Amino acid sequence: MKAILFFFAFCVFTSSAVAQLTDQEIYDLKSGRVKPDNSYIYSLPFAKGSKFLLIQAYNSKMSHTKELSLDFKMNPGSKICAARDGVVIGTKEDSKVGGLKDEYLSQGNHIIIRHNDGSTAMYWHLQKDGVLVNDGDTVKQGQHIGYSGNTGYTAFPHLHFQVQDKKGNDIATRFITRKGVIYLRPSNYYKRVNE
Ligand SMILES: [Zn+2]
Repeated sequence: MKAILFFFAFCVFTSSAVAQLTDQEIYDLKSGRVKPDNSYIYSLPFAKGSKFLLIQAYNSKMSHTKELSLDFKMNPGSKICAARDGVVIGTKEDSKVGGLKDEYLSQGNHIIIRHNDGSTAMYWHLQKDGVLVNDGDTVKQGQHIGYSGNTGYTAFPHLHFQVQDKKGNDIATRFITRKGVIYLRPSNYYKRVNE
């Protein structure tokens, strides 16, 4: 029985945490260029039951070459939910402009949430007046915190989600999905199934 359990645990680990990565990503992980946060499993940053296309993921070519961040294509007004418990440490919701001009870099509406280990999650490009939380608020994983949009430096309406450790280094995070706990890959749809 013990052996069977061990085998099962091993399969779950290899299929969810490792097999989802490309050879390049595994190389990056081994060489320390990408440090996964295995200590926490995130919730997809949108409403339960909804499903969105991941356009860019870790080190995608378009605009994420040196970033570990995720772009979910979303119609403006889609519900954004906290991926992890934390405290709100920054918000902006007064912008209504967006596009691929440098002047829009500072025009992205956003929410920044600090987690209990000092890491922070950033939710970008929210719509005008699309922030439902205030600085200092405590939020729970899965809580509806805002609405997606297309503000700031952006080529199309989407949510840009990024997690950094307390030194400001990007962290690759795992998520709960229909296929288990995985690192997300671009060009796939992901549906939030957890509460
Ligand atoms: Zn992005």
